[in-house]
Amino acid sequence: MKVRIFDTTLRDGEQTIGVSLSPDQKLSIAKKLDALGVDAIEAGFPVISDGEFKAVKMITSEGLSCEIAGLTRTIKKDIDAAIDAGLNYIHTFIATSDIHLEYKLHMTRDQALEKAIEAVEYGKSRGLQVEFSAEDATRTDREFLKKVFGEVAKAGADRVNLPDTVGYATPEYMAELTRDTVQVTKLPVSVHCHNDFGLAVANALSGIHAGASCAHVTINGIGERAGNASLEELVMALQCLPYDQKYETNIKSELIYDTSRYVSKIIGIKVQPNKAIVGDNAFGHESGIHTHGVLNNPLTYEPISPELVGRKRRLRVGKHAGIHGMNAMLADFGVKPTEEQSQQILAKVKVLGDQGKQISDVELLSIASDVLGDKGIKRIVQLTGFSVSTGIGTMPYAFVKLNIDGKEYSGTDHGVGPVDASLNAIQKITGKISEIRIKDYALASISGGSNALCEVTISVEDAQGNRVSAKSVGEDIVTTSVQAVIDGINRIMLKKMLKEKELS
Ligand code: MN
Repeated sequence: MKVRIFDTTLRDGEQTIGVSLSPDQKLSIAKKLDALGVDAIEAGFPVISDGEFKAVKMITSEGLSCEIAGLTRTIKKDIDAAIDAGLNYIHTFIATSDIHLEYKLHMTRDQALEKAIEAVEYGKSRGLQVEFSAEDATRTDREFLKKVFGEVAKAGADRVNLPDTVGYATPEYMAELTRDTVQVTKLPVSVHCHNDFGLAVANALSGIHAGASCAHVTINGIGERAGNASLEELVMALQCLPYDQKYETNIKSELIYDTSRYVSKIIGIKVQPNKAIVGDNAFGHESGIHTHGVLNNPLTYEPISPELVGRKRRLRVGKHAGIHGMNAMLADFGVKPTEEQSQQILAKVKVLGDQGKQISDVELLSIASDVLGDKGIKRIVQLTGFSVSTGIGTMPYAFVKLNIDGKEYSGTDHGVGPVDASLNAIQKITGKISEIRIKDYALASISGGSNALCEVTISVEDAQGNRVSAKSVGEDIVTTSVQAVIDGINRIMLKKMLKEKELS
């Protein structure tokens, strides 16, 4: 059975606290969703602001291949705004639960029903595709809900949607309501589930299993409060879990990870590391037992192959590490230690692991380079010259000379202070070579007094989003900062160089 994917990242997702997108940003996400293969997107709520109206209009003018819907209340003005924004498909809603009727709408059940019918009839009279939502359906009196859906179906609605507005449904109840709705409307039914109890995807699956043909979802599960059912989880569960019934969607699953990262970057909300399918750790292994199993046959500890969602397996080493996994990680970079060297590297890894340290592949490479010595792995970036000037009545200024893999580069730049000027000058050089950017910088004083030791922690990121951190301790804030940055750059470039060597 084909399940329709209705993505509401640009509407419910944008209602996430702290998220507000410009029309250009919304358009760029709409294009990405279209490429991912969603059947429909909810582009926005045109009546709420000029910017929102403009965004929806830009999206409807783009010639995307997916259907484009816009949200409206059951109010003529909202529906007219949707039409003016170029929409021919509306998602119109009115609340039907007693708590919403009494405290929000100040309406009786009959008044709400009348508004619903009027909106559907008006939308149809204007030639629109109309999807009707009974907001807070899962807390609505069950008989009244049936009545509402039955009446809007008679009024000509094309689709109806069952929103679990506050994530209050159990999977069992979602199935019952879905069956009611299919029976009373004979229309395609959508489910719109929220994650207040972590059940959004389970509830949506349950609705689909009970006869719904469409799910409203968002990328990374963003949305009001705890968010919506996440597209990536729902789609992969439909595709991969052992249901008797075979489910399919039009989603190009290999684009899922890229889309997740893209949306996360634009809206500025990080994905939690343990998030299913798209979290950093979703295909990561550290423990020796798991890593050994996965290296022999990935299906031992992975339900699906990471490539299916456009990802790669991630092995990590730490205190749970085993030699097989560690050697596999090193081999990935073309580093092949002897058995004795492997044991030495692993011992150092475990010491760091026991101290509670996270050991990234970049750190593993630097440990390996210590053990293997010069003929192992070298420092790629060396600081060969450096000076700063600062004071009052003059703009802080830095000169930096770096030797990168045998070639000399120099750069100069200004800054708000000598540290800023130095880091800017370094970034000017490294930005030209490999787009390395300094993401975080933190300075702490370790001991008191004007001769205190300072500790600088930085993190740098390359164009692929790999991030490493480095720390340096010293007496001089400026040179310690520069040293930390050079260390970070070395670590991140080491990985890159080894990868390139392996490819060539
Ligand atoms: Mn919602």
